[in-house]
Amino acid sequence: MRVCIIGAGVSGLATAKVFLSQGHAVTLFEQRDTLGGVWSPARRYPGVRLQTKRDYYCFSDFPMPGHYPEFPSGQQVYEYLCAYAKHFQVDQAIEVPLPDEIGRGKLVRLYGSNLALEQAVVDEAVRRTEGVSAAFIKELMRRLAQGSIARDGGCTVTSADIEEALNDMLFEGGRLNVKLLGGAREMEKTL
Ligand SMILES: Cc1cc2nc3c(=O)[nH]c(=O)nc-3n(C[C@H](O)[C@H](O)[C@H](O)COP(=O)(O)OP(=O)(O)OC[C@H]3O[C@@H](n4cnc5c(N)ncnc54)[C@H](O)[C@@H]3O)c2cc1C
Repeated sequence: MRVCIIGAGVSGLATAKVFLSQGHAVTLFEQRDTLGGVWSPARRYPGVRLQTKRDYYCFSDFPMPGHYPEFPSGQQVYEYLCAYAKHFQVDQAIEVPLPDEIGRGKLVRLYGSNLALEQAVVDEAVRRTEGVSAAFIKELMRRLAQGSIARDGGCTVTSADIEEALNDMLFEGGRLNVKLLGGAREMEKTL
C-alpha cells in the first residue's frame, strides 16, 4: 500500500516507522526544511527543555542516549528524533519543499554572508541551484568560501568558483553526495 503522512514531528515519524516496518511505501511530507516538529531548530525557543522525563517521552523501541539528562534540552530532543529517523530509515521517506528562486537567493546570501559576493555571482549561484535543497546550497557556499579563502583570503568569489565547487560536489562526491544533500534530479541524471 502507498501511504502518505503529513508532518515529520514525533507523531509523523512514529507513524511512518510503523508503516515502513510493515513493508508499505511511505512518503512523509514536511512543510519545513527539517524534521522534529516543535523540537526543530526553527520552531523551538532558546532554552526550551523537555518537561516530561526522558524515559517517559522516548519511543519504547528507541531509548534516549544514556548521557542525556532527566529533562533533555530542545536540541537534544531534536537530535534524538533525527537519530530515530535515521535508525529506522524514516528520513529517506521525508519530502521537504525545495527553495524557489527567491529562497535560493536568500540562502546564498545567508550562507555566504562572510564572502564578497557580487550580484552577478549570486544570480549565477541561484540559477545553477534550481531544484536543490537548502542543505545543498549550504554545502556549495562552504566550498566557495574554502576556495576563495585559499586563493586570496576570501576577497573574491567568481563564477569559476561555482563551477569548480559544483563539479566537486557532483563528480567527486558522486551520486550519494547529490542524494544526501538533496541535489536536483537533473544533477543525478548527469552522473
Ligand atoms: C515548547 C513545547 C514544549 C513541549 N514539551 C513537551 C513535553 O515536555 N512533554 C510532552 O509530552 N509534550 C511536550 N510538548 C508537546 C509536543 O507538541 C508533543 O510532545 C509532540 O512533539 C507533538 O508532535 P506532533 O508530531 O504531533 O506535532 P508537531 O511537533 O507540531 O509536528 C507537526 C509537523 O507537521 C508539519 N506540518 C503541519 N502541517 C503541514 C502540512 N500541511 N504539510 C506538511 N507538513 C505539515 C509541521 O511543520 C511539523 O513539523 C511540547 C510542545 C511545545 C511547543
